[in-house]
Amino acid sequence: MALDIESIRDDFPILNRRLPNGKKLVYFDNAATSQKPQCVIDAMSEYYSEYNSNAHRANHTLADEATTALEEARNSISSYFGTSPDQMIYTSGATEAINLVSFGWARENLEEDDVVVITEMEHHADIVPWQQLSKEKGIEVRYVPIDTNSFTLDMQAFEVAVEGAALVCVVHTSNVLGIRNPIERIVEISHSNNARVLLDCAQGAPHERINFDDSGVDFVAVSAHKMGGPTGIGCLLVKKDAMDQMGPFMTGGSMIKTVSTNGSTFQEGHAMFETGTPRIAEAIGWGAAVDWLDKFDMVQVHSHINKIASWTAEKISEIDGITVYGDPTRQDSSGAVSFLHDSIQSQDLSILLDEGGFAVRTGHHCAQPLMDALGVPSTNRASFWIYNTMEEAESFVEHLSYVVERFSTS
Ligand code: PLP
Repeated sequence: MALDIESIRDDFPILNRRLPNGKKLVYFDNAATSQKPQCVIDAMSEYYSEYNSNAHRANHTLADEATTALEEARNSISSYFGTSPDQMIYTSGATEAINLVSFGWARENLEEDDVVVITEMEHHADIVPWQQLSKEKGIEVRYVPIDTNSFTLDMQAFEVAVEGAALVCVVHTSNVLGIRNPIERIVEISHSNNARVLLDCAQGAPHERINFDDSGVDFVAVSAHKMGGPTGIGCLLVKKDAMDQMGPFMTGGSMIKTVSTNGSTFQEGHAMFETGTPRIAEAIGWGAAVDWLDKFDMVQVHSHINKIASWTAEKISEIDGITVYGDPTRQDSSGAVSFLHDSIQSQDLSILLDEGGFAVRTGHHCAQPLMDALGVPSTNRASFWIYNTMEEAESFVEHLSYVVERFSTS
């Protein structure tokens, strides 16, 4: 059955918003964060108004209800990602999930001169932790370049870089270019070189059903807020044998078994990595988001988004002075369209677009090495999700054409 976009839109109250200038909101900043369906807002509000309490501590009714809801959310989320609750560690988002691999796994298992392979198209969240580890432990960080003609990863360079590597960290889908990397090949090549693989699925998970157990990947970092869930929560999915090699990251309450003045002992499995009061409302909200998303065929969702993105990219590249970075017309492209105008500064352009009601992101997108490779300081980025429509894309192209005609000096 085809996606009913109008009824999907009805689930998102914010999409009826008008901006202070009276313009109807057209939200094209989904790669930064998605909007939230009413069921997510309701689930979080119900927790706060009906059973707000701490989890995994007291025996009273509210504590019991909060603990049950937190763990039911873990069941829903892990099952959505094709794995068991034991393999899932709640984090504050993809950034903390990647730091957890760096602190919890890499610091325990890597030594001076061990190699971590990353790519030029990583988000800063998957660059800085490895640079820090390099400073602290003397590991070598190898960067795989992109081919700036096709905007894809240089797989020949990847095959060379992976030789002798202990860990390969790759973004599933670029937040700037919308390109999906050839993950299956990357995992195969990495594992045949005995390297573990960390996949940054912050952008992949909102566009594709990730099956962790089937993927064979060792670590997957996910962010809730880009897939209909709340901010402040995400998770790290970890293969059992990799989790067995991990040591504690943040220490304190909840992650301990015993504490005495002589020292402490720690919980085992995912509980060792969930320190302090859990993000209870956020977990419940994320659980509601995956239950909502589970109703849809993600192949259909992807093709809906891909159709809008490729049409938009084609149309805006016909506008005088606009260059599109990436190739949103590729079938595996996720719906991020990065572009620049040759005489209207990107910041000015985003303000002019906002005046028309269009929310797009501008800047380096936390991917400065990629900006360096593309030879630009920033881009404007329109990014689409399940509730966006072709009509919105048409009005965007129309408004951008008007802005360029009116303000271009080239
Ligand atoms: N990785 C990618 C590719 C991203 O796009 C982002 C956020 O924009 C992150 C990591 C960081 O995710 P989070 O906001 O969950 O920390």
